[in-house]
Amino acid sequence: MRENITLACTECKQRNYETSKNKRNTTERVELTKFCKFCKKHTAHKETK
Ligand SMILES: [Zn+2]
Repeated sequence: MRENITLACTECKQRNYETSKNKRNTTERVELTKFCKFCKKHTAHKETK
């Protein structure tokens, strides 16, 4: 039931992280605050296909 997803920085649109989510528990798009090495700060990262 786990689906691989990519997390992209919402500021520079770089794809910085890959992770997986449980489709059954998380039906909406994942949004996490993570460190972006391109922005050199913590930014919101959103799930992208
Ligand atoms: Zn960024």
